[in-house]
Amino acid sequence: MQLFTIFGDPVSHSRSPLMHNHVFNVLNIDACYTRSQLTDGSKLREVFFAKALNGANITVPHKEAAYDACDEIRGLAKEIGAVNTIINENGRLIGYNTDADGFLAAIQSFGLLRNALILGAGGTAKALATVLRQNSIEPTILNRSANRLSYFVDNGFQSYGWDTFIPNTYDLIINTTSAGLSDDLLPIDDCVLGSLLTNAVCAIDVIYGKETPFLKMVKKANLPYKDGSDMLLEQGVLANALFINNAASYETIRTVMSQSFNY
Ligand code: NDP
Repeated sequence: MQLFTIFGDPVSHSRSPLMHNHVFNVLNIDACYTRSQLTDGSKLREVFFAKALNGANITVPHKEAAYDACDEIRGLAKEIGAVNTIINENGRLIGYNTDADGFLAAIQSFGLLRNALILGAGGTAKALATVLRQNSIEPTILNRSANRLSYFVDNGFQSYGWDTFIPNTYDLIINTTSAGLSDDLLPIDDCVLGSLLTNAVCAIDVIYGKETPFLKMVKKANLPYKDGSDMLLEQGVLANALFINNAASYETIRTVMSQSFNY
């Protein structure tokens, strides 16, 4: 039996085991996907081998540590510097990032967008900034603390800490912070957010499965919005295709995996 897991802290909220196990069951793949609470990201490689895993997903806050844990990085993950999917290829850990393309697929229904404001500067923000720029949707980054901005500054992204923020108008407002995940906090001051939303076209929170304070404000502003469910599905489809070595098409995996959202 092939073994997969999701590493994170916290990880109990993750829907990934449900999604991947449903695909394995329906497609008759002899595999099992579990959750692994991991506090110290620097132990990821050691724990991966101790659990004899074939592959893994990585969630908050270990995506950058996962990048460092790999022997080889493929695709957009190289530019992003963060990994959310690892495949064990004959004892070598190969790192990928499926968040970026998963996010891009999720925002297609919003239509044409010129620019976006990304709240947060963690692993997810790096993935989104990279893929948005590649697709001509100019991203700006706004983060609580300035010390995480160096990646964005070094890579030529317009970046601000809370203290230095000079607001512009943005078509899409994205919450990639973990504010609202296990608390009732907004990702930025409510007055600043209120005025950004007044001038925005749409908004998305990458947190899924709950109405965060951010999404509550978006709803009040009457904007088209999404939570992170579509992104979760799309990044999961891409990761599952890697886990099963493309034994089924994206369409088949998407159809089967989306059924698990009804549970
Ligand atoms: P990281 O830990 O790498 O980054 C977290 C970011 O959130 C940092 O920029 C941090 O700012 C900011 N932050 C945390 N708490 C607050 C707060 N109270 N107020 C303002 N900013 C805050 O996390 P990831 O980028 O890996 O993940 C972020 C979120 O995205 C998680 O909720 C995760 O579940 C979700 N996610 C969803 C996906 C999906 O498929 N739907 C896929 C990937 C992620 P600072 O630097 O100041 O600490």
